[in-house]
Amino acid sequence: MSASTSRFARLPKVDRVLAASPLREHPAAASLKKLLVQEAVESLRARLRDDDAHALPSVEALARELAEALDERWLRPHPRPVINATGVILHTNLGRAPLSAAARDAMVAAAGYCDLEFERASGRRGSRFTPLRPLGRALLEAEDVHVVNNGGAAVLLACTALGLPGGVVLSRGQMIEIGDRFRVAEMAAAAGARVREVGSTNRTHLHDYERALTGDDPPSAILWAHLSNFRQEGFVASVALHELAALARARGVPLIADLGSGSLGRGIPGDEPTIQEYLRAGADVVTCSGDKLLGGPQAGIMAGRAALIERCRRHPMARALRPDKCTLAALHATLAAHARGGDDVALPLQRMAAASVESLRARARQLGRALGWPEDQLEFRATRAAIGGGSLPGATLDSVALVLPRPGALEAGALARRLRLGEPPVVTRVQGGEVLVDLRAVEPADDEALIQALRAALPG
Ligand SMILES: *Cc1c(COP(=O)(O)O)cnc(C)c1O
Repeated sequence: MSASTSRFARLPKVDRVLAASPLREHPAAASLKKLLVQEAVESLRARLRDDDAHALPSVEALARELAEALDERWLRPHPRPVINATGVILHTNLGRAPLSAAARDAMVAAAGYCDLEFERASGRRGSRFTPLRPLGRALLEAEDVHVVNNGGAAVLLACTALGLPGGVVLSRGQMIEIGDRFRVAEMAAAAGARVREVGSTNRTHLHDYERALTGDDPPSAILWAHLSNFRQEGFVASVALHELAALARARGVPLIADLGSGSLGRGIPGDEPTIQEYLRAGADVVTCSGDKLLGGPQAGIMAGRAALIERCRRHPMARALRPDKCTLAALHATLAAHARGGDDVALPLQRMAAASVESLRARARQLGRALGWPEDQLEFRATRAAIGGGSLPGATLDSVALVLPRPGALEAGALARRLRLGEPPVVTRVQGGEVLVDLRAVEPADDEALIQALRAALPG
């Protein structure tokens, strides 16, 4: 036996780990337990490959560790709630928009049997989209509205249903990447629509579009993408949406405008365009996400001309992109909150954006006090919070963060990790060697849970 083979002979045997009492007695499915043990043994094998003196756990210890991992990690509900102390309100990695209490209740209520596609008066089949349409049409000021699973799906469906056979015209200045390496032009291409690039990276003119629309191989649609996550400065030129809309109308080609952020205009700081403004400017179909500035669940909203929306709704692809009952319930509740009127949209996103710096500072002070930290040693930092979610680039909100003390010169990264792994998990901001708890995106109702988590992570 070679040295390298004998080194692996020390590895615990899968069958023996499975037979050890902590795992044998665990009620989880045998296939899951086996998978877990195999993966653990594989990772130990990799360790031994790098370091043949690596200490190995006993069979019993490994079985105990894996039985605990089953309960703590594998079988626990996921995703798990976290407290967002990063100061980024629409945090893409933390689930974007926090839903209102009404939207959460609506999701739970819809989870069992519900009248999703059922007309109670007639007892006949209905459409899952019918109850949303009046709210959507009124709020978005659109002839008609359709809903799919996310903003990307809305672009995909619009380009598929409206962009064939001639393809879509898209400015090179709007060939944006929206995150996680997804690109608007590639989504259009994935829809089967030829992307016909016009203009240059920094400058696109109306005559570029005019030329693209002339000839004996006309494109089927124009695609416009809002530069949602960056800005262009310097020697730049772009065509205003209303000018492009006039051209599209004159040539009889639909204009699809991917707005992305989906603001309805109330309770959002900055100058982000709204869905209504895009429609008023003459876009024929506007697409956006439900979980950005709308403050709702992950969804893709399509709003615009009745005949075009109908073509999207009737396209075979629409079936593959249709949202489930819980999403629709949460979206309906979110639109209803927008529709109830009054100045105050009762959604967490709007409340968080509207909170005054003074109120955040008062809560931060209260946090420190509740933790028993001496008042004169509390440290605060003025921070810039962000709406986030790839919307409003550079638009920030003044905010305030509590600087966490670090007992025994605990390293900032180590403290932040401890908080992330705590219960409830707290995601902080580490900046300049400090751990900052920014209250902008923390629901006041979570302050008590935040105090508990901080107390657990910072003993003494
Ligand atoms: C966010 C965004 C999308 C994608 O929306 P998802 O809901 O994340 O799929 C598409 N286009 C633009 C301009 C965006 O900002």
